[in-house]
Amino acid sequence: MLPASYDKKSDRVALTQKQHDRISSLNARMKEGNVPKVSTARSGGAKPKLGQHFLTDPMAPGRIADALGDISRSTVFEIGPGRGALTSLLAKRARRLIAIETDRVLAAQLRMKFSLYGNVEIIEGDVLAVDFDSIFGPKPGSTRPGINQQPERVQVVGNLPFFITSDILLRLFAYRKYFESSVLMVQREVADRLAAEPGTSEYGLLSATTQLYTAVEKLFTLPPAAFTPPPKVHSTVVRLTVIPRLEGLRVPETAFIDFLKLSFGQKRKTLWNNLKAQYDTKALRAAMEEAGVKSDARSEALSLEKTAALFRALSNSKAS
Ligand code: SAM
Repeated sequence: MLPASYDKKSDRVALTQKQHDRISSLNARMKEGNVPKVSTARSGGAKPKLGQHFLTDPMAPGRIADALGDISRSTVFEIGPGRGALTSLLAKRARRLIAIETDRVLAAQLRMKFSLYGNVEIIEGDVLAVDFDSIFGPKPGSTRPGINQQPERVQVVGNLPFFITSDILLRLFAYRKYFESSVLMVQREVADRLAAEPGTSEYGLLSATTQLYTAVEKLFTLPPAAFTPPPKVHSTVVRLTVIPRLEGLRVPETAFIDFLKLSFGQKRKTLWNNLKAQYDTKALRAAMEEAGVKSDARSEALSLEKTAALFRALSNSKAS
């Protein structure tokens, strides 16, 4: 629900006198120190340990929010809102916005800032630990017959803390029943790996896993100067759209992920050398032949279809 007096044209919220008074009082409390403030030390108060590089490019929030499309009827989940560079725009555009921030101080400040928005919820917490089922799953009382039991479909957005990018992605994939698409800012090199084609030097386990669950699009890249403090690397915004690829590949999820991990086990080794630790060499040779995989192939060279064919051939030989 948008705030009552939201004006779509100007992207602004007109405040009543009561709301205005409340904000003035909150601002006064902040000045008095009742709300924790971020220190303004050298890095502008950013905590490097939390991957804090705040977006300061004035055009970037609009470009990222635009990449989500029309969100006026969507629930949006923002990871790491920080100082709210993106949050303000999302709050105005989304039907419902849930943002999770691990930094207590920033979470408290965001709660204050968005206290008048009925459609915004700020969670102080760790995106790697938060219980998605309790946030997006069916609520008590919604189990009566006739009530729609489809999981909520949520759009994810965030300028991710780089040091946990892969962990966040894996968690989003694990809960993909909720997350239909994501627009995420990641390190440029990571974006290249997510989108890499088999047979290229960037293709690896992260590419294969990501492409098993999603279609990847690289949208645009920002230089370090777009952030405060500037990171050492460029950042790229990617869109990941969940696709049901597992069904087409005819592989069981967990066992196939384990197989991918084994296949990519040691980068310099051939696929054969990575797999022979776990499979009987005779069965391995026969399965590679059946799947049309050369004995000196490297896992990076194989498409997901070929890897799945090899997995299926090995599973059949085990079963027989
Ligand atoms: N969205 C803001 C922006 O673009 O200016 C901040 C982006 S900053 C790169 C990453 C944010 O993620 C920081 O605010 C940081 O505190 C937060 N963060 C780091 N680890 C987190 C975690 N495990 N769960 C939730 N937020 C986290």
